Amino acid sequence: MQTSFAPERLAVDPQLAASEQILRTCVHCGFCTATCPTYVLLGDELDSPRGRIYLIKDMLEGDKPATAEVARHVDRCLSCLSCMTTCPSGVHYMHLVDHARAHIEKTYRRPFADRALRALLARVLPYPERFRLALKGAGLARPAAGLLAKVPALKRITAMLALAPARVPARSAQDGPRAFPAQGARIARVALLQGCAQKVLEPAINDAAIRLLTRFGVEVVHVAGEGCCGSLVHHMGREEESLASARRNVDAWTREIEANGLDAIVVTTSGCGTTIKDYGFMLRGDAAYAAKAARVSALARDVSEVLATLPLAPARRTGQTIAYHAACSIQHGQQIKDEPKAALKALGFRVKEPAEGHLCCGSAGTYNILQPEIATRLRDRKAANIARTGAQAVVAGNIGCLTQLRGANDLPFLHLTELADWATGGPLPAALDGHGFVRAADAAE
Ligand code: SF4
Ligand code: SF4
Repeated sequence: MQTSFAPERLAVDPQLAASEQILRTCVHCGFCTATCPTYVLLGDELDSPRGRIYLIKDMLEGDKPATAEVARHVDRCLSCLSCMTTCPSGVHYMHLVDHARAHIEKTYRRPFADRALRALLARVLPYPERFRLALKGAGLARPAAGLLAKVPALKRITAMLALAPARVPARSAQDGPRAFPAQGARIARVALLQGCAQKVLEPAINDAAIRLLTRFGVEVVHVAGEGCCGSLVHHMGREEESLASARRNVDAWTREIEANGLDAIVVTTSGCGTTIKDYGFMLRGDAAYAAKAARVSALARDVSEVLATLPLAPARRTGQTIAYHAACSIQHGQQIKDEPKAALKALGFRVKEPAEGHLCCGSAGTYNILQPEIATRLRDRKAANIARTGAQAVVAGNIGCLTQLRGANDLPFLHLTELADWATGGPLPAALDGHGFVRAADAAE
């Protein structure tokens, strides 16, 4: 694609220069449109990757403030990155749309309700204690959800209530900075991201990861000082807040790397993993952080990548049929395709993949709150495709997808680490109770 950015602007603005290079790689072939969930649903070129690229080019090239039209179409983008998997020219849409979202945030004044909701999400979701309190409040408000749903202006509030669990789980006994020694000879030492929303919504995921990894000789550390990876605010264009989160985590992990050494930084929420693997790019212009951030990104691993290095074998009778739902952040964001399925197969499960596996389930961070109509259509489409697999349970590697899809069909949804932990001797995950999987106590029978 030809561009005509003023050279003097490119010379002083590295972010603009990077976006210009991305724009130049697009040959407007349109292959990406066919695999873009919003184009598939809405059929509008401006809701396709190519259409958004044109809108972003026009805005950045002309150094224009974002218009309501640009904000609408970029807001509808899920950042699912399916377009990056499809694109034959290697267009780095993620960095381009991240830049566009930050530009929109700086130059466009959203309607009051939109601003207020975004500010609320940014001030609550990344902070576990605030989020826990908010979920308890949402639990009290749930009985009113039916009434609220009748008021179109409150549809996003209704969407939030629908996503809140009926009961907020107790804090994990493993919470907080500490080390979990490897069983037997230690083969690796890793940090496990505790993060923010997942540890409140489903602490069982990381509890299972700790049992699983230590069982296979991996020492696991909860590093002091780490927290939200920054992706929730990053996808809302709140650049400074996301960079502050990135710097805090880089500092925390760097202290641990330098004091005791780390073989990997393991992430059980693939949306966070995609962002942590991008810290090196996000902080490339910060002389104090660029090298440390690049080192952290190079050490970041989705838990399925670590499982691929372990001699997994079932410790109980398995053989059940499991549908594998590939989160966008894992299959498109991190280009991890085979490792989760290979882990399931090594553990004796039959693996089914739903049709249209490349399409997003509609979760996408805060998307299911901010764009509830599109998110619900995508959820229902995904849930129907998963149900058609005939599986007994569904595994995913991202808390957002699990929260989005649970209840959308009759199947139990759980994280890969929970099922792998059970298969190798751990307790029965709560999601599988009553679905024909034996409890830990039955394992020896
Ligand atoms: S597939 Fe790639 S090169 Fe083709 S229009 Fe889409 S982004 Fe541009
Ligand atoms: S990130 Fe997803 S929703 Fe956004 S343009 Fe690409 S394919 Fe479409």
